[in-house]
Amino acid sequence: MSADHAGADAHRIVVSRPLFGRFELPSLGGAEVVVGPEGGFASRGALLDAIRGASGVVTWMTDRVDAEFLEAAGDGLRVVSNYAVGYDNIDVPACLEAGVFATNTPDAVTQGTADVAWMLLMSAARRGSEGDRYARSGAWAANGALGPGDFLGQPIAGQTLCVVGAGRIGYATALRSIGWGMRVLYVARTPKAQYEQAPLNAERVSLEEGLSRADFVSVHTPLTPETRHQIGAAELALMKPTAVLVNTARGPVVDEAALADALANKRIFAAGLDVFEEEPRVHPRLVGLENVAMTPHIGSADTRCRAEMTALCARNIDNVLAGRGPVTPIG
Ligand code: NAP
Repeated sequence: MSADHAGADAHRIVVSRPLFGRFELPSLGGAEVVVGPEGGFASRGALLDAIRGASGVVTWMTDRVDAEFLEAAGDGLRVVSNYAVGYDNIDVPACLEAGVFATNTPDAVTQGTADVAWMLLMSAARRGSEGDRYARSGAWAANGALGPGDFLGQPIAGQTLCVVGAGRIGYATALRSIGWGMRVLYVARTPKAQYEQAPLNAERVSLEEGLSRADFVSVHTPLTPETRHQIGAAELALMKPTAVLVNTARGPVVDEAALADALANKRIFAAGLDVFEEEPRVHPRLVGLENVAMTPHIGSADTRCRAEMTALCARNIDNVLAGRGPVTPIG
């Protein structure tokens, strides 16, 4: 990570934790760049201490940006550059009221997160994680060769995928299904021409219809008051017993206790989860279930996504503090 120190303005920039890739501020020569420790500041208090007097802060998705944060930073704060596309950690109205730009990283995360959605979809459908555990555990060797009825998963090719939250990542996820010859449904508050045109030719449906018709449901809505527990017991009850639910959006969009019930009772076939309601804690009932494939919130954790996120966070800070306005503002 590097900062250019060639110009005149002295800004204090705080980066919540070390980032992957090049963090360059070409317009902000002389800026002091303070980078937090690996894993982030040890406590909320340490973060608030570090941001005092900052003009710009790069926040991680677990850094809550609220009135307390804005007050701690002080009147000089101009930009909060969130290292994520989701911004449920940010009180956007409070930022706007304080005259602070909040920015995020749209597009940079899209392809990597769609890849993880597919990894989880396939792993859940074909029992990949379970098979991995079985092969490593010695159970395979102990039990002998598998028979024709063992480890049966669900077919993927030619099936129906429903995208809930039809934005950038939902589109990239749906696009990948073309290789599997799938039918695509989408759930959105407003029609999305991009989804309905070739090559997707997707059909807009209500959430209820999408859940009941789909073999695979992939959730991509942002976490908002409206989407908290968007998928709960009633919604899971609409799904086919052979269906797979994938969540790479935010944990609280799915009611984990209800999901654990549905999985334990074989109400649905399986789930693929990259996000959890109380990260980094995984619901204890999910941990014990074989029919969940899980990853520790790694949707955007590939080298290209992370490098692009870092570059975009830096550009947002550089642009705002140089008076050019943010590249990707929130709100
Ligand atoms: P996006 O382009 O803004 O797409 C989100 C879509 O959800 C929008 O098209 C929005 O459309 C729709 N939506 C919002 N509220 C809805 C509701 N109540 N019902 C149905 N649809 C609703 O965002 P994105 O870039 O695809 O990212 C989506 C989310 O993925 C982020 O917010 C983030 O939380 C998550 N994410 C996770 C990871 C990870 O590491 N697992 C990585 C990146 C992103 P309308 O407003 O028109 O309804």
